[in-house]
Amino acid sequence: MGLIPWIDLALCLLLFVLFVYVFASVTITNLHKAYLVFHFSMMLWPFCQFAIKTTDNPRFQLFYVKLAFVDTSLLAIGWLLFTIFLTGHSSFLRRKISLLLFIPALLVALGVIFNPNGWFVQPVYGTYIQRTYGPLFWFHITMLIAYVVVSLYIMYLALVSDKALRIKKQIKRVLQGIMVMTAFILSDIILNVGLSRFLPVIPGFTSFGILLSAVFFIIAIHRDKVFDIVTIAHQDIFDTIAIGILVIDDNDTVIEINHSLLPYVQLKLGDRFHIEAILPKNSDKRELFLESYRNQPLERTETELIYEGNLMPVHVNIQVAPIMVSGLRVGRIITFQDRSELRRLIDETSNQNQILQVRNQSLIGIQTELFQTNQKLEQMAITDSLTGCYNRHYLTQQLEQEVMKNMNFQIPFAILLLDIDYFKLVNDSYGHLVGDEVICSTVEAIKLALRRTDILARYGGEEFIIYLPNTNQTQATILAERVKSAVESNKMIIPNIATSISITISMGLLSITTFAVENPQNSYLNELYESVDKALYQAKKEGRNRIVSISK
Ligand code: GH3
Ligand code: MG
Ligand code: MG
Repeated sequence: MGLIPWIDLALCLLLFVLFVYVFASVTITNLHKAYLVFHFSMMLWPFCQFAIKTTDNPRFQLFYVKLAFVDTSLLAIGWLLFTIFLTGHSSFLRRKISLLLFIPALLVALGVIFNPNGWFVQPVYGTYIQRTYGPLFWFHITMLIAYVVVSLYIMYLALVSDKALRIKKQIKRVLQGIMVMTAFILSDIILNVGLSRFLPVIPGFTSFGILLSAVFFIIAIHRDKVFDIVTIAHQDIFDTIAIGILVIDDNDTVIEINHSLLPYVQLKLGDRFHIEAILPKNSDKRELFLESYRNQPLERTETELIYEGNLMPVHVNIQVAPIMVSGLRVGRIITFQDRSELRRLIDETSNQNQILQVRNQSLIGIQTELFQTNQKLEQMAITDSLTGCYNRHYLTQQLEQEVMKNMNFQIPFAILLLDIDYFKLVNDSYGHLVGDEVICSTVEAIKLALRRTDILARYGGEEFIIYLPNTNQTQATILAERVKSAVESNKMIIPNIATSISITISMGLLSITTFAVENPQNSYLNELYESVDKALYQAKKEGRNRIVSISK
């Protein structure tokens, strides 16, 4: 044979490599890829069976025989992969240990390729169209059976697990396919290998089995949409979503449940569903929910019920919605969602809110207290502690502004400075405490004689100063007289002694009637103080209990 036919073969292989590359690299699901490996292996067997018979050259015949059996190793691996993907165990293939699955198939494929001492296959009368198989062949068959058994076992596990009904249906169909294929392959082995001495060779047995099983796959693919990626995605979501989902048909038969439902409802596919059985008994919303569930089957119904949990109550939101097809209700979908975390958060937030409100209240309390204390402090800072009237500091501050204003607007005003006469005598005769009482009582008497706008302040010791705003000299003299006689007529009872005393005061009165001062500064105020002090001094000097008036 020349080089030309090999070029064709090389091109054919190249095309095949491209075919594999395209399917391996495009974004189809791994299930698609596993199926393609599998389907290709299925095609290769009948092809080899045909090819063996097209040549008389034993070397080519042997090549095709070997190719066919290497292909069965591939078929075994394809089967296993397909089963693993179909049953949703593809994550297992990401683990390195999964590579062990391919080793037996690889070993027997090597046995087929090298065929040492003809232990796998030997020609009969120099041709491989008729052939005898050695021990490696049986080893090969055992390995194939082992792969099939493992696949069957995986599918069995999937069938008895809680997988969705749809997946179980697919598995059943594929199981049928594998059964048919196995039956045909075993028949082929028994009839055409085991009993080959007694029976004529029946061709195409295994190929036919493969074809039949492929038909099962195609049905599975088309009818059950095995490769429909959207359906698979929906199924994945359905299986993994945290919301429990229950689908019932119009006869209340359970047709689909997902894993998240199990904590709430112990149901199997095909069970009859009774809504009453799954609702907690002692809930006030139960009856209301049941009523709308029974009487309004075409409406969406929703409620939140509390289930007893292991540690704490579980708040479950239950929603019921009809499944409508062409305006007719064909079933219902019921969802269960654990809202406990949300409830806890809401409760916690409102708790925190309450705590905050209480804290706020106490803060407001503290603030009010602080405000009042502040006010007291302010009051204390301007008040004389013994008599309760203003202190000298306050009056000086007031006068600094008042004098300025009066000067600017030429408003007359007066300042009175008064001192109790012979006060040392009071102290000496009745004691210091009585002296204090006398000072206070005198202040009260003076206050009664004053107008609302006059300001009385303690100047020091038993001396007091009075600012008379907006007052001319005549008015000031009248007021000073009024104060003087108010003090004089103020009889004070001295406790323990049962006698009453009265005191007199001397006063300096300064009236301001000229406003020629250019720039009234603090020194001007001191000047005023000095002047009125002099007037007082003069009143004392002149014999006390009198008023000395001066004006500026
Ligand atoms: P005069 O007529 O010259 O004013 O004679 P006087 O005795 O009142 O003399 P002076 O005003 O100089 O003395 C004031 C006395 O008042 C001296 C001090 O012991 C007493 N005194 C000052 N402040 C207080 C006080 O708050 N309480 C008491 N009980 N006595 C005070
Ligand atoms: Mg005095
Ligand atoms: Mg004095």
